[in-house]
Amino acid sequence: MPNLLKPTKMTNATTEPQGIIDIPTISNYDMFERNRDNADSKKLDHCPCCGKAIPNAKFYINSIFGGNAYPSSDKNEYANAWVMGVGTECRKKFPEGYVFEIKK
Ligand SMILES: [Zn+2]
Repeated sequence: MPNLLKPTKMTNATTEPQGIIDIPTISNYDMFERNRDNADSKKLDHCPCCGKAIPNAKFYINSIFGGNAYPSSDKNEYANAWVMGVGTECRKKFPEGYVFEIKK
């Protein structure tokens, strides 16, 4: 099996981004769950702050560990990190430098 001899791609999975913050979620978790379930039932992504559906995501954050965010200027690859859509209103809850726009 020659494929097994290929060198595996090195990742910096052990390093973490600088400037990690908690994603600012609404304090009413029941409401969050209702919003998220509603979004799920429509097969739409939900906002990590309020759980509401995001039908046409325009604003995004770099999320990591499921509940944290790191600065949008950080283009490195990390384990447990992915780009997540955020609601138009909720993006204002983030400090400057965490939300970025993707125009389609
Ligand atoms: Zn939201």
